[in-house]
Amino acid sequence: MIHLPDRSLRYREAPPSSSGIVCNVFIKQFFRLDLRRLILLLAFSTAAITLINGLNASYQVQRQLLIDQTLESNQVYASKLATSTENFLRSAQQQFAFGAAELSPLMDNQELLSHTADRLRRQTDSFNSIIIVDHTGHVLATSPETLKILGEQLASPGAQQALELKKPLISAPYISVSNNLLVFISHPIFSPTGEYLGYLGGSLYLKERSILNELLGIHYYEDGSYLYAVDQNRRLLYHPDATRIGQQVDNNPVIEDVISGHEGTQLVKNSAGIDMLAGYAPIKIANWGVVAQRPLEATLAPLDSQMRAVIDHILPLGLITLLLIWWLARLISRPLWQLADNAQNMDEPLTPARIQGIRSWYFESAELKQAMLVGVNLLHTRLGQLKTEAQTDALTGLLNRRGTEMALQLLQRNATPFSILALDIDHFKRVNDTYGHDCGDRVLQSLARLMQTSTRKSDYHCRVGGEEFLILLPETPLYTAREMAERLRLCVAGAQMPEAGHIQISIGIAEWSTPEDDPTDSLKHADQALYQAKRNGRNRCEVYDTSP
Ligand code: GH3
Ligand code: MG
Ligand code: MG
Repeated sequence: MIHLPDRSLRYREAPPSSSGIVCNVFIKQFFRLDLRRLILLLAFSTAAITLINGLNASYQVQRQLLIDQTLESNQVYASKLATSTENFLRSAQQQFAFGAAELSPLMDNQELLSHTADRLRRQTDSFNSIIIVDHTGHVLATSPETLKILGEQLASPGAQQALELKKPLISAPYISVSNNLLVFISHPIFSPTGEYLGYLGGSLYLKERSILNELLGIHYYEDGSYLYAVDQNRRLLYHPDATRIGQQVDNNPVIEDVISGHEGTQLVKNSAGIDMLAGYAPIKIANWGVVAQRPLEATLAPLDSQMRAVIDHILPLGLITLLLIWWLARLISRPLWQLADNAQNMDEPLTPARIQGIRSWYFESAELKQAMLVGVNLLHTRLGQLKTEAQTDALTGLLNRRGTEMALQLLQRNATPFSILALDIDHFKRVNDTYGHDCGDRVLQSLARLMQTSTRKSDYHCRVGGEEFLILLPETPLYTAREMAERLRLCVAGAQMPEAGHIQISIGIAEWSTPEDDPTDSLKHADQALYQAKRNGRNRCEVYDTSP
């Protein structure tokens, strides 16, 4: 019996012998780089890079825009407050100039001096206190009178400065005798002849309610924004945290710039280490500066939520797009992996039909399918030829031993009953000896043709040895087989063989009719009958005798 190898096994994975192997196979399958995954990867990375790039560009542009806007509005705001404060100081100085001129002839009149001091304080409604001092530094009048410094000689920096310089002044902040942190604004008093008589001064208390606090402090944002004012010595004139008023602040680039008389904007860290967007403007009349600033984080907070909202809007459509790409990738790769699958089993009989059934809906896959179909058909034709050649006897064109076995297997598999004629040429050695081996070959060929023409097309004609032949007669009972054998024997005996003239044959006949029986036993029976024919004198047919 011939056993052909099961070719499909060549391409199949070996059955997993343990869970580790199953796991390995799963991981390999999962990470396999096939066309669909490549398309997905490409689409996903392109979409992700474009999206991230777009979001980042938009974020950066908007961030800069917000920063610029905040810086600009802080500067405008600081500038506006600086102008208001400057206007106030200028108008105060003018009122003091007017008051000083008015006081010039009244310096000896205590009552009128007190009255004028009172009137000036109430008229301007800007100063916490007003004092009139003579040229020796002694206080002549105060408003309010509760100051209790009447007649005293003032030693405070503002008072000293006013006496020394004898010109309109705005002092740096200092702590007064009455323990108030204040800024002192003064104007000299001269007689009509130009003699220095003293000065008129007004105090703005920095830590109490004053026009300065009102000008600067009423403006307050809720998101951590605030403003402050400094003098030329970097001391805080105003700060929302009242405890810091009067403190000196060094190493702050914004303060350095504003007290140098510059307007501008800067990103700075405040004393608490928080990034601030500062806009600033100088109050030139007093060499002070106003700084308005807002935390960077508070400025950018709306942008972060805006970006989150953009992402929330993009995500659903993005996911749908990815699903669409996944589906398209599947559609594109499908004919290719179906073709690849079939390429692994090219020699299977059903492969051409399976390739034909693949829906190759775009150009490249259609071309590939066509090429594969041509290839696979060629392969099958060639395989068929090889198979036929492998089962055919080269000299006579009849089935050889292998072909005979295949025929027997087929008949047995289909349970087709058959009869067997076993043929042998009588005294063939003589033919060879007399006419030569080539002539003997031609006799064998002639006999093969006679066998074919004297029996049916559906019968199997086989050459199983040198000059030994078999004819398998499917669906043929023994008696019919005997008749056919006899007809063939007579036909051969009467035929003119090339060069050798006449030959004779002996035939043994047997049958295979019970599926449980082994066909090789039936072959042996036919052989035995053949020997019987030889023993009985040759040129005859004998049926295998089944009797015990
Ligand atoms: P018999 O069968 O009647 O007993 O006598 P035989 O002379 O035919 O004896 P046997 O069958 O034993 O001899 C077979 C001979 O067939 C032997 C060999 O020379 C010849 N033979 C075998 N194969 C070939 C072949 O392919 N070509 C040729 N020309 N002769 C062959
Ligand atoms: Mg023989
Ligand atoms: Mg013989």
